[in-house]
Amino acid sequence: MTDRFSFSLRATDGKARTGTISTPRGEIRTPAFMPVGTAATVKAMLPESVRATGADILLGNTYHLMLRPTAERIERLGGLHGFMNWERPILTDSGGFQVMSLSELRKLTEEGVSFRSHIDGSRHMLTPERSMEIQRLLGSDIVMCFDECPALPASHERIAESMRLSMRWAQRSRDAFGDRPGHALFGIQQGGDMEDLRGESAEALRAIGFDGYAVGGLAVGEGQEVMFRVLDYAPDMLPADKPRYLMGVGKPDDIVGAVKRGIDMMDCVLPSRSGRTGQAFTRRGVVNIKNARHQDDPRPLDETCTCPACSNYSRAYLHHVFRSQEIISSMLLTWHNLHYFQELMQGMRDAIAAGQFEAWEDSFHAQRSHGDIPPI
Ligand SMILES: [Zn+2]
Repeated sequence: MTDRFSFSLRATDGKARTGTISTPRGEIRTPAFMPVGTAATVKAMLPESVRATGADILLGNTYHLMLRPTAERIERLGGLHGFMNWERPILTDSGGFQVMSLSELRKLTEEGVSFRSHIDGSRHMLTPERSMEIQRLLGSDIVMCFDECPALPASHERIAESMRLSMRWAQRSRDAFGDRPGHALFGIQQGGDMEDLRGESAEALRAIGFDGYAVGGLAVGEGQEVMFRVLDYAPDMLPADKPRYLMGVGKPDDIVGAVKRGIDMMDCVLPSRSGRTGQAFTRRGVVNIKNARHQDDPRPLDETCTCPACSNYSRAYLHHVFRSQEIISSMLLTWHNLHYFQELMQGMRDAIAAGQFEAWEDSFHAQRSHGDIPPI
């Protein structure tokens, strides 16, 4: 075990990288997928089950936790790790993105964002300093800078103005974070889909200096083509010896394309949210378990998957419990989806280490192109 935060690269293949982030709470194998535990829980899963799928780190949401049960209460109760029974690393977002998408009557100024809670209408203010304080109270291992980002498409002027505000907030976040051995602060590159602004943002962040760097402002409705076009250059602008995190991504093919372009960490609600709406991710693509074609099918969702849903239950059973709105439906499909996402990451880590990423990627796309198994 280490008492410091560090990152070491083990192998690269093209732009794809595999390595290890070391923290006092354990190691994170990269490329890493972080399941989202919004309200101090990955919905429908016990923490030990999330760990069993292969997750090394979870993401927690500052916006949700500051409103309920509040960061101060979690701190009094010993911090987020003990509170939610997850002793391994936790990354928290800054609250910046969610305050803009979820809160009411928000007002953005140089100081920060004031807003009303979507839960009870109470008034709050999030600033870089307050975001750092909340993430410290939670006990987060990887803390994100407070930032702001416009939805795409947006004008050059709008993106530039927003990015420069985020860079001033990045400096204030760095100052407020201080020196906390064992904990990391990540800067967030902004600049939308404008290469010059991405470059300006990267330069500003490098001048401040962070333990890791996120590519922010993507997965905000721009589509995969635009996202990949930005990822063709944006990660290269960030220091190669620090982890690079793509926020809020994504679907399996988004993840593969991001890793190919040099991304080390990702997070998304997709596997858990889809698990609750009857969508299963498999190596053959997405399976909608609510479809009537499954109702007499005794075969597993995926005969090669070793998760509990596939090892012990038929498609017919999964279809039945979903249609009956039984809680076990969310439990089994979420477990399967998280297991699939973690297997995907392990497959990429192994392929990069072996110098076989391109062949692995070809096989990933080929399996999906066949589609789901035909009905019996
Ligand atoms: Zn499975």
